[in-house]
Amino acid sequence: MNLHNLVRDNIRRLKPYSCARNEFQGEASVYLDANENPMNAPYNRYPDPMQEALKAKIAKGKGVRPSQIMLGVGSDEPIDLAVRIFCEPQQDNIVAIDPTYGMYQVCADINNVEYRPVLLNDGFALDAARLLEATDAHTKLVFLCSPNNPTGNLLNRDEMKQIVERFAGIVVIDEAYIDFSSEASWLADLDRYPNVIVLQTFSKAWGLASVRCGMAFASEEVIAYFNKVKYPYNLNLLTQNFVSEQLDHKSRKQEWVAYLLSQRTALAAHLEAIPWIEKVYPSDANFLLVKVPDANALYRSLVARGIIVRNRNGISLCAGCLRITVGTEAENTALIKALNETADIPG
Ligand SMILES: *Cc1c(COP(=O)(O)O)cnc(C)c1O
Repeated sequence: MNLHNLVRDNIRRLKPYSCARNEFQGEASVYLDANENPMNAPYNRYPDPMQEALKAKIAKGKGVRPSQIMLGVGSDEPIDLAVRIFCEPQQDNIVAIDPTYGMYQVCADINNVEYRPVLLNDGFALDAARLLEATDAHTKLVFLCSPNNPTGNLLNRDEMKQIVERFAGIVVIDEAYIDFSSEASWLADLDRYPNVIVLQTFSKAWGLASVRCGMAFASEEVIAYFNKVKYPYNLNLLTQNFVSEQLDHKSRKQEWVAYLLSQRTALAAHLEAIPWIEKVYPSDANFLLVKVPDANALYRSLVARGIIVRNRNGISLCAGCLRITVGTEAENTALIKALNETADIPG
């Protein structure tokens, strides 16, 4: 694989915007280079476009080099950037598992790039051979999500490996839910696979969805392209500082994960005890996919009781399914109570 040949011509040739903070790096006593207001420190200054302090901290925790990290406004930003860097509109295509996270297709559609969904097998299992069959010379990106949303399951690592090793393009592995799983991250294999982009996020296990901070990990070459295309100041100062401070509370995050995993087990057991619930799918994430006799009616009845779950009835292979996030014990109990009160609805 030659990475530079995978990149769109215009992006390969792109001379990126050089902002004031890029042109001068280091310490000075007088800054008159960026048309900033000298008052209202520290908010008057443009933030570090490369987020070096935050990346250094993340790199240490993840066992990667800072130059292998791109930070985005959620992991949605690197998803969109990957499409824009690698896929020529109306010419290239993207292959992804189906069902999966909806943003991959939305970003493909926005960029006018063909999106090819490949159905998962029974048990939402990945079939590498079938996915590879859907690729052709114009396939630049493959999206794999593990644990997958909305199905909750891990994809088989050997099947993923076949794709990573045999596909001559970029494989994006979305690990938004990896903290809830016993499976190891692909981060450890990053140096072995220069065609892999691993996505993680602060939105789930870290409890920081409102802050909008996501991470892409990849080879230095791929990250250099991300840096070329992203908005210079994509992460503001408040976000950089706040996330950095939150990273000092790793044990708190681990306690939340342990709590949510125990709640997931309890919630699954309570759901399975409800006779009309048809299936509670196994989950390696912080949600459960549940098959019921009439998902639309049950969704509405829960809304009427003030409980909002995600109706996945219209999604491939998810007919009759609701996706239920694991909440606090009190929230999960309220859900179970409401479900027992609606026992007369399905049928
Ligand atoms: C929630 C989620 C994300 C996170 O997106 P952010 O933009 O980081 O909040 C990414 N991928 C998947 C599959 C998700 O479910």
